[in-house]
Formats: sequence, structure tokens, C-alpha cells
Amino acid sequence: MKNESRRAKGMSRRDIRELAKMIRRKCGLEQTYKVPVCCFFEWIMEKLFPDFQWEIVPDYTMTEEGVTFSNAKKVEIRQDVYVAACNGDGRARFTIMHEVGHFILHGPNRVALCRLSPGESIPKFEDPEWQADTFASEFLMDYDLVQGMNYKQISDECGVTYGAAKTRIGKMQGRWIV
Ligand SMILES: [Zn+2]
Repeated sequence: MKNESRRAKGMSRRDIRELAKMIRRKCGLEQTYKVPVCCFFEWIMEKLFPDFQWEIVPDYTMTEEGVTFSNAKKVEIRQDVYVAACNGDGRARFTIMHEVGHFILHGPNRVALCRLSPGESIPKFEDPEWQADTFASEFLMDYDLVQGMNYKQISDECGVTYGAAKTRIGKMQGRWIV
């Protein structure tokens, strides 16, 4: 509906970074540059979150690249995206971690539909899409591991697109407030 949007419990980039680092630590991935995204999704997630459910959905039944159903505690990933991620495609790897971010951050009690007044916009730190992107970015490009790297190195080492790596560097240099 027009002017209706989703608002999540507010989280700063630093909050999300701490959470991503905690999950990396729990999985013994603190020193891992290129997170094994498909292995993480298929095997590790259900160990961390016993109620996690997932499905790889045939291409022709789904237009979105991935969907997270917070109420059903389920993530669906389109098959071509999943295959690309398993083959190391940076964009697909980011998509999967974006959906994982929704699953972790946006349970049924943490996201609400809200109607915005004309001209009002949701602050970034309460926007579920910003939060999920930030989670994917922090998880795939660990803040401490990528210090001092240029965007090509980050892209190679962490398995992300040039665009994601450039954005990461910009955020770390404080060009954005959040
Ligand atoms: Zn999303």
C-alpha cells in the first residue's frame, strides 16, 4: 500500500557489526576471508538457529532472488541464484547473506508495518532492507580483516562484487554517517 512500509527495531551499523562478528566467532570463522556461504546456509544456520528452514526454489516459480518469511522462519532462494553463489558469484553470495540477515534480525516481533506521513521516510537504522544489506556486508567483509585493502583485494579475498567492496571501503572511511 502506498506510504506503508516496514520499520524494524533500530540498529546501528556498529550493533550489526558486533552481531556479525559474534556469529563468525561461534562458527570459527573469525580469520576466514571468504566465508563459505552455501555451506553456512545449508549446514551451519540450523545449528545456530534450530528453527531455521530453507528451500531452493526452481527458477520458473519465483521472480525474486530470495525471500524470507519471518513468521514461518523460512528462507527461500531461487535455484539459479543458489547455484551461482556456490560457484563463487559475488552478487549471489551477497543475496543469500542479505536473506540470512532478514532471518536473524527480523523475527515476527521485530518488524512492523507502518504508514508514513507524506514526505516522511524511515530512518536508515530502522529500515529492514538497510539492516539486511549491512549485515551481509559486515559478515562477508569482516571489519578487521579488510583493513588496508583496496576494493579489488576485498573483492578477490572476500568473494564480493567490486561495487560491494567499494561501498564497504566508503563506510569504513566514514563518508557516510551510519
Ligand atoms: Zn530484503
